[in-house]
Amino acid sequence: MTSSLPAQDRPILSETAGSPRKRLYIRTWGCQMNVYDSGRMADVLAPLGYGPAETPEEADMVILNTCHIREKASEKVFSDLGRLRLLKQEKEAAGQRMVLAVAGCVAQAEGAEITARAPWVDLVLGPQTYHRLPEMVARASRAAGAQIETDFPVEQKFDHLPDAQGQQGPVAFLTIQEGCDKFCSFCVVPYTRGAEFSRPAAAIVAEARRMVARGAREIALLGQNVNAWHGEAPDGSTWGLARLIHALAEIDGLARIRYTTSHPRDMDDALIRAHGTVPQLMPFLHLPVQSGSDKMLQAMNRGHEAELFFRLADRLREARPDLALSSDFIVGHPGETAEDHAATMRLVEKVGFALAYSFKYSPRPGTPAADQPFQVAETVKDERLQELQALLRRQQDDFNRACVGRECDVLMTGAGRHPGQVAGRTPWLQPIHAIGPEGLAGQVVRVRITAAHPNSLSATLLDEKELACA
Ligand code: SF4
Repeated sequence: MTSSLPAQDRPILSETAGSPRKRLYIRTWGCQMNVYDSGRMADVLAPLGYGPAETPEEADMVILNTCHIREKASEKVFSDLGRLRLLKQEKEAAGQRMVLAVAGCVAQAEGAEITARAPWVDLVLGPQTYHRLPEMVARASRAAGAQIETDFPVEQKFDHLPDAQGQQGPVAFLTIQEGCDKFCSFCVVPYTRGAEFSRPAAAIVAEARRMVARGAREIALLGQNVNAWHGEAPDGSTWGLARLIHALAEIDGLARIRYTTSHPRDMDDALIRAHGTVPQLMPFLHLPVQSGSDKMLQAMNRGHEAELFFRLADRLREARPDLALSSDFIVGHPGETAEDHAATMRLVEKVGFALAYSFKYSPRPGTPAADQPFQVAETVKDERLQELQALLRRQQDDFNRACVGRECDVLMTGAGRHPGQVAGRTPWLQPIHAIGPEGLAGQVVRVRITAAHPNSLSATLLDEKELACA
């Protein structure tokens, strides 16, 4: 499933026992799965003495963890590599060494080009080979030339990676599924992440328990096509995602469960029911539909019609009346006419979204849509995107305004932007802040929402007396 969460550009922290002897800087683009992967790479390098660096300048190793979803992704990587080449040369002139690695989907898709165009890169590794990083670092220190690992041995990766030590906050991300067999016309994931793979349930539950023991109150289950998860159960049978969620809900101290990103075709009855029966499962679901036109859904190889999405939205809201939906949209896929676009607008009007991500179609080399005739002109795509985004923005604002006056539980995650504020997330994933002690981080507290801003909410904490009445 294409992801739409904002890029992360911050060092990944991984604590080692004692002072780290070397410094690691990871720049992460793309989705939460890439953020999770960056944490795991930091974890796998921690035993080698790598601790966090705040900047590439102070790092002994720099990893660019790349994403291939967005337009010109590889060009951005190459321009970063140009800057890092100068840094590497400066360090070498000063008698220091800096290992430079490119990881993630651009590495998987364009490994050969990276080594040809940027021979100063030491390591190129695809998303399934992070467990081999220590071995690759050792090989790079012995041999000249780039070390490349872009195989697809998924199960080995999860078997060999250490625990996700880098994740310490109230919200943790746990990858349960990787890859995709859907082959949507516009998407590189099946080519860069490989076939669908589901981790066994026991390994997931054990990792979740450890996350909770380290302070996680909310776990977001991650997968490119997460609701296609069908893993081996402890008794040898096969569980679907709903059964896994029930098992996770039994973990003491785990207050919230989410999962992302899902495909409409994999929303089965048990998963829909779970939204009504598992209180820990948050009433917010990111369910990409991409288009409201049956003709475009077919051209995109999505494997369903708009009617399925309408039915799912209704059934989910029947199961959990306060459930809010989020989605992804692509405008200007090859062949999209004004009528197709109008069908997307109608779908948005009819379903109503609390949040959505929308993008102009842009061709990804090697994907079927890239070679299709009837590419839509950029100016037309721009107009359609603006129209769609205006509607989505209006719906988001309406949803946030409708929350004002409501009471809800908020998971506090840390200090707010201003002194004396504490910040957190509502059940519907809205950022929220209130006057209160930072020490509330990690607690689920009852609040009354008092104001809606463009990208966040304000609230007041409810006192014990009000709590008792709520
Ligand atoms: S479901 Fe489609 S969009 Fe999502 S990862 Fe698979 S191929 Fe890509």
